[in-house]
Order: sequence, then C-alpha cells, then structure tokens
Amino acid sequence: MHELGLLRSVVTAVERAAATAGATGVEAVGLRVGTLSGAEPFALEGAWPMATADTVVAGARLEIETVQAAIWCPGCAHEQPVDEFYALVCPVCATPSGNLVRGREFAVAFADLGVPGHD
Ligand SMILES: [Zn+2]
Repeated sequence: MHELGLLRSVVTAVERAAATAGATGVEAVGLRVGTLSGAEPFALEGAWPMATADTVVAGARLEIETVQAAIWCPGCAHEQPVDEFYALVCPVCATPSGNLVRGREFAVAFADLGVPGHD
C-alpha cells in the first residue's frame, strides 16, 4: 500500500521529534494532504494503526487537513480550484494554465508530543 510507505516516513520524522523533545508518547499527528498528492485520506486513516505499531507514535490520533488543489488562472486573474482530473485548464473560463498553486502537499502539520512536566 502506497499510503503505508508515506506514513512510515511521517512516523520516522515524528519519532525523531519525540526523541529530541524527550517525549514519552504522541497525542496526535496532523497532516496536510493535497487533493493531488496521490494520497487518499481514507487509505491514510486505514493504514495509520499499522504504520505506527510498535513505535512511540502508536495510539496517536491522526488529523488530516485536506488541501484543495488550485491553479492560478491568468484569464480570471484569480485562483480556481481543480479536482483530481487536473487538466491544466481553468474550470471556469477554460484558459490554459500550468500554474498549480497548491494541491501536491503531503507534509506533517503538527505533532502533539506528550512531554513530561508539560501538560
Ligand atoms: Zn479562468
């Protein structure tokens, strides 16, 4: 599963942060996931328990913030949302645009670490 590999990278990054902070556990992990990132939120949720098993991240809540993909349209002089059938064309006025301003994000937004003496 593609999402499991992505989440293993996330878990590794959070494990490093937890080790640096001396954290005893992780309460929650937030991800920013673009609609064109190639990762499905539903599949990420499904793979989360397996990806975190036997790590300091096990039991942490996964919070996914979906980022709607958008292009900058020179015709509209405005951003326009695009769906998964991203076709390099403005959905409103059909002006060609290769300028994707967001939508490919796959990043850790935050990690709530359980740090002793810091509620
Ligand atoms: Zn347009």
